[in-house]
Amino acid sequence: MKRKILAVVLAACMCAGTGMLLSSCGSHTFKTDWEKDATHHWHACEDAGCGEVSEKAEHTFDEGQITTEATDTAQGVKTYTCTVCKQTKTEAVTFNGLSLSQYGAATETAAFQNVTVTQEGTETVDGETVSTFLITKLDGGKYSQAGTAAGQVTEAEEEDAESTGAVRTALLFFTAIKHSQLTYNADTKIYTAAADCQIAVTDNDGVTRTYKDFKLTFTGSQVSTVEAAYTVDNGAGSTGTGTLKLTFAAYGTTAVAQLLYSSTYAEVVDFSNFGNVTLTEKIGDGSAVTVMIDSGNVSGGGYPNDPDVVISSFSFLTEISSAKYTYDAASDTYVASGVCYEKDGVRIENVRIGLASDDSDTMRLVSLEYDVVSGSVTQHRAYTFTAYGSTVVEEPNSDGDGDQGNNGDNGDNDDNDDNDDNSGIDD
Ligand SMILES: [Zn+2]
Ligand SMILES: [Zn+2]
Repeated sequence: MKRKILAVVLAACMCAGTGMLLSSCGSHTFKTDWEKDATHHWHACEDAGCGEVSEKAEHTFDEGQITTEATDTAQGVKTYTCTVCKQTKTEAVTFNGLSLSQYGAATETAAFQNVTVTQEGTETVDGETVSTFLITKLDGGKYSQAGTAAGQVTEAEEEDAESTGAVRTALLFFTAIKHSQLTYNADTKIYTAAADCQIAVTDNDGVTRTYKDFKLTFTGSQVSTVEAAYTVDNGAGSTGTGTLKLTFAAYGTTAVAQLLYSSTYAEVVDFSNFGNVTLTEKIGDGSAVTVMIDSGNVSGGGYPNDPDVVISSFSFLTEISSAKYTYDAASDTYVASGVCYEKDGVRIENVRIGLASDDSDTMRLVSLEYDVVSGSVTQHRAYTFTAYGSTVVEEPNSDGDGDQGNNGDNGDNDDNDDNDDNSGIDD
């Protein structure tokens, strides 16, 4: 009998050990609402004067949310919430983004030195969706299309690359989006542009893309990504939407080889495109000679013998495939190594060309070097092409009427076409 009473008392004591069991035992009735202090939450007993509590535990705060964004002039607030009782606590958020001056420096044209820009996105116009993926090199204010390696871009992609100007708008973004229009999230480190921040860009085909909803990220003091949504209006009733993401990477390096597109190459070595160009020729260790080329016509400028030799001797360039060139970042030139062209025992070797874009983004030949090899004789030739479109060179060598002289030169030019490369060694 005594033993049985003891067992009942023991059971009651076990009940008293935990609130839950006690509750079910009927000894206490706990409120369903949580009571809490700065560190704990619990259920209190409803019974008057009873201090018993149930499920008392420390708060389990979530990962927190920025409830007030920090700015470069004021701290923000991050609020953590207990996942059980909804108790909150806050902490100050220090601005770790870019100050106004830092933002200005990071987005200045000069800040983008040898940057590889990867453009990704999709665009849907009249129900048709296309994806874009382009790699561009941005260097100061200059940009050029590039592939992951020479020859990896198909013709269709090449056309797309040359007609799509989205990456070119990158610099426009930075000019247009002001630091004051951005909201910075200290957690995600993303700058979000105000809704009214829009930039319209019309490409050569008359298609206008209006970019908005910008999101910018920075790594240290350098632009890392730019994301935007945009609307498309082709001006002829077709409209659509698109997304754009630009990733800026490999600052100061040349991780990506610049592609020499076949169409670009064909254009830059077509001398009929050369309008009023000043050409300086230097053969071997000889002194430099300057002539002027204008749409295939050559005028003297001091060239000693036959000015047409200058232009006609370049005709081998069109015989070299653009795929033979690789980009040499150190010298910013395209190099075709080894024998590039051979005719009548004369070889053109180690061709090296430098390109630059003009105001209308047309690529132009600015430098050309090669070796002319005949037997055991190797002659190095170097040319620079400057002052496109200007007329800085007179025609001192023309005999009498300058136009006549030019016409005569043209005649010579045709004659020289047959021995373009011979003229190379004759010099
Ligand atoms: Zn109680
Ligand atoms: Zn809690």
